Amino acid sequence: MVENSANQVKGSNNPPENESTFRSLKDLLDHVSGKRLAESQLQQDSGLAEVLPFPFLAMVGQVEMKYALLLALINPAIGGVLLIGPRGTGKTTAIRGLVDLVPEVQRSLCYYGCLPEDIETGGIDAVCPNCAKKFARGEPLAAMDKIRLVELPLNSRIEDVVGVTDENPTEHERLRLHRGILAHADRNLLLVDEVNLLSDEVVDAILDAAAFGSYTVKRGSIAATYRSRFVLIGTMNPEEGRLRPQIMDRFGLRIVVKGLDDINMRMEAYKRVQAYNSNPRQVMLEYSDESSIAQTEVQIARDILPEVKIPEEVSNLGLELIRHLNINSLRAEITLFEASRALAALDNRKVVSSNDLQTIAPMALRMRRSSFIEKYITDQTEEEKEIKNAVNHTSPTP
Ligand SMILES: [Zn+2]
Repeated sequence: MVENSANQVKGSNNPPENESTFRSLKDLLDHVSGKRLAESQLQQDSGLAEVLPFPFLAMVGQVEMKYALLLALINPAIGGVLLIGPRGTGKTTAIRGLVDLVPEVQRSLCYYGCLPEDIETGGIDAVCPNCAKKFARGEPLAAMDKIRLVELPLNSRIEDVVGVTDENPTEHERLRLHRGILAHADRNLLLVDEVNLLSDEVVDAILDAAAFGSYTVKRGSIAATYRSRFVLIGTMNPEEGRLRPQIMDRFGLRIVVKGLDDINMRMEAYKRVQAYNSNPRQVMLEYSDESSIAQTEVQIARDILPEVKIPEEVSNLGLELIRHLNINSLRAEITLFEASRALAALDNRKVVSSNDLQTIAPMALRMRRSSFIEKYITDQTEEEKEIKNAVNHTSPTP
């Protein structure tokens, strides 16, 4: 593999000086976009029909989409990513490919999702009886595990999403509710394909859970609260229906995914897809070195994120930008700042630069304005003036 990769880089558009040294994940991303598959890989056919994700790093172009997805992995406080575009532009492929790059998190070993931190915050009754026994015996309740991709099926009902009552309740209240998809998505990626085709009830439940990091299900006298600290990734094809503006506002980064313009890039994308279709394992191997470097970089970026600061002059620049664009929603600056911090971390820096902010601004601020609200506020301002005038004209004469 390693011998091969030197040859492939020779065929690349932008061969780096030294392919084995990347200063940061940002450098790596820039490098692999130009990497070409070896010609010999293009004709091979293993004859295997396997379901392996197309490598994230093998995707040609679509730089903004790749950045947005990586930033969401690094900093869940970004508030999710919405990929907007027609079919066949690689939205779902990119999301599924992320599984090669995901970091590890502490995961419960129990069906009910009990974690050691539950005992720290709520005492021994906060976990199920089985986990309470395990805890008493000094056995672990959780283990490190890679983040998973949980996909919300398009036909999901609200019961599937939030959970349902157990038909055979036991003595422990917590056991009487089955966890829904949102609880299973805790500490994972939640992919909501075609979010604009889901019912409002389901979308509201997802966005509330994403915003609070937990949600409560009530059935009669029973209530259970589940953690749902997931990274939300939605896709939509605007040809198939609009998304309510208030729902749109609740997504952090919004990426407009268009088809590739450049014919050379399109040809390269075609070749990679063709190579993948005939031998997916080989294509995965081609990118395995870079994928494992990228995975480590994501983990490092997550680790340094808490130390990443935004200098006042940079945050002021962001606030000025939002004021200039006349954006009302406070989510604009939350996403702008959190994504800028993640971008600095991705580049191995602990201070956000104005450059970071400017790179993020289009992703965080586009489609934030509502023409309805703008007209509403303008009309209201007019009315305020009229009222003031009327008040002045009808002042009582002394
Ligand atoms: Zn348990």
